[in-house]
Amino acid sequence: MGLLEMEGLTKRFSGLTAVDDVDLTVERGETKAIIGPNGAGKSTTINLVTGLLEPTEGHVYYDLSDEDAADLHEIREVPDDERDQQQRQRIEQLRKEYGITGSEPHEVVQKGISKSFQTASIFPGMTARENVQMAALANEHGSFQLNFLRKRDSFTEVDETATEMLEAVELHGSDDVEAGSLPYGDKRRLEIAIALASEPDLLFMDEPTAGMSPEETQSTVDLVERLQEELGLTIVLVEHDMEIIFRIADSIAVLNRGAIIADGTPEEVQDNTDVQEAYLGG
Ligand code: ADP
Ligand code: MG
Repeated sequence: MGLLEMEGLTKRFSGLTAVDDVDLTVERGETKAIIGPNGAGKSTTINLVTGLLEPTEGHVYYDLSDEDAADLHEIREVPDDERDQQQRQRIEQLRKEYGITGSEPHEVVQKGISKSFQTASIFPGMTARENVQMAALANEHGSFQLNFLRKRDSFTEVDETATEMLEAVELHGSDDVEAGSLPYGDKRRLEIAIALASEPDLLFMDEPTAGMSPEETQSTVDLVERLQEELGLTIVLVEHDMEIIFRIADSIAVLNRGAIIADGTPEEVQDNTDVQEAYLGG
């Protein structure tokens, strides 16, 4: 059942509807790919969940019990204005218990949801290890606190987290290198380690292989697979390379003009004629 649920999620920018009434489920432990042409609303959808943007309409729910998720799925099928009193009350209850709609980014991170940002999150003058330590430290307290550094035990813990995450992305050999002088692919892996420092259950990756060489792409794909298998992470990724998607995704959601036009296993999506017309080019 769903770890993350979206219900009627909508984002309008003045005249443009970037995300249009999206119902989507991310299952616990799966790797879900979101695909679709440029401008389809993939990044906006992720930003609505991770707190970088506030939805115009709709709701996001996190970490539901199976029973509650089943109820949500049932009610979600009924259009808003056709829901009876009982369904309205039930969904209010679910929103109160599980709703993360419109939360601030740091609140979302504390819930266990993280996003791998592109280069913006790296401090180039600090070492790879210091970058991950900073991120682990920020998570421990919700925000960075200087006096925390005086508490040795806590810092040991932060350093252990940093070691673990640098090992997970195979950067432990370069942990004392200044982040700014790492090769491009290593920088992108460091961003993933920074995202992992908050020890999330759910990790969003927006085009993690963009701009990578074939070798860097290969090792990133291996990494995503390992994160799912070894850390038990649930992963949502936006990716253009269909070969990569078919290799690592358990399910694929297809966005077109802000709306979900298909959602299912790779095989189901591949056979979907709407998808073939809109995206795969016939
Ligand atoms: P994708 O990631 O699928 O390529 P985006 O989610 O980035 O697409 O964008 C969806 C649509 O919303 C595009 O038409 C884009 O131009 C528009 N858009 C995205 N962010 C903003 C913004 N902050 N202000 C106005 N329009 C935006
Ligand atoms: Mg995008």
